[in-house]
Amino acid sequence: MIKIDFSLAITLYLFIFINIILVFWLFCRKEKDKKLSLDPRYIWFCSVCTYTYINTKEDVISTCPRCGSYNKK
Ligand SMILES: [Zn+2]
Repeated sequence: MIKIDFSLAITLYLFIFINIILVFWLFCRKEKDKKLSLDPRYIWFCSVCTYTYINTKEDVISTCPRCGSYNKK
C-alpha cells in the first residue's frame, strides 16, 4: 500500500515537472520565433513578383510563397 502511494507520488511529481518544463520550453520557443520573425534579416523581397514575405528557415536562398521562384540575399 505504501509502495503504491509512493509510486503514484513519484509519477505525479514527474508528470507535473515535465509539464512545467514543456510549458516553459514552448513559451521560450514562441518568444524566440516572435523575435526572429521581426528581425529584418528574415524579411525577403521577391525579385520576380515584388512580393515581400518572411522566411526564418533559410538565410541564403528562399522560395517565394507566391510565385515559387528562388530569391538570393
Ligand atoms: Zn515571387
